[in-house]
Amino acid sequence: MFQATGPEPGLKWQSLASILRQSYPNVTGMLDVACRDALGTLVLTLLSQSTTDRQAQAAYASLRKAFPRWEQVLAAKPRDVAEHIKAGGLNQQKAVRIQAILARLQDEAGALSLAWLAKKSPAAAREFLLSLPGVGPKTAACVLLFSFDMPALPVDTHVARLSRRLGLVSLKASPAQIQQELEAMVPPEAARHFHLALIEHGRAICRPRRPRCDDCRLASACEYGKESLPR
Ligand code: SF4
Repeated sequence: MFQATGPEPGLKWQSLASILRQSYPNVTGMLDVACRDALGTLVLTLLSQSTTDRQAQAAYASLRKAFPRWEQVLAAKPRDVAEHIKAGGLNQQKAVRIQAILARLQDEAGALSLAWLAKKSPAAAREFLLSLPGVGPKTAACVLLFSFDMPALPVDTHVARLSRRLGLVSLKASPAQIQQELEAMVPPEAARHFHLALIEHGRAICRPRRPRCDDCRLASACEYGKESLPR
């Protein structure tokens, strides 16, 4: 098992971010590419839980085609909502959560929209999002970052794996702890690119199994890479 021995994580992220900027200058993600409102971002992120971006996008497109207005999603039978998002998996559970979120917005905000969150502080916006059914730290951070440009750094499976391997956080840190530590470490203006580039790097090079350390531009700053590559 490798140990973190390099520079302080607070300094280290800067050299990593610089290499990532050179390696992935124009990286975009699922939530970057599609243009939609914050509620759409929230629903798409919910649909992406435990599945791939492609399947989540297929489920989202199918849902919006069947029910172009959120009022229609709220009024639909749960089984009909589930039917139209089945491409994303866990469709029964996700349908219940989506309708519960819509009902909550209707009751508390009087509209099927999250636009009003833009006027809240980042802390208050995050607190509200976290109070919604099925919304955890990663989903809330995705909405804050991609829809409101508020300070947040979502931690998905790729960001968590790379953060541990690179030595930015403890190997035992939970995704919620990693998110807290990265948000304290990475300035808000750098968070979007850092998040997207780590995901891209995790898919292309630093895969869960057999990471391609010998082909990795981060290797010199990576605790796992230092241990696994010949000296
Ligand atoms: S050196 Fe290896 S473990 Fe480290 S980031 Fe690169 S591929 Fe991942």
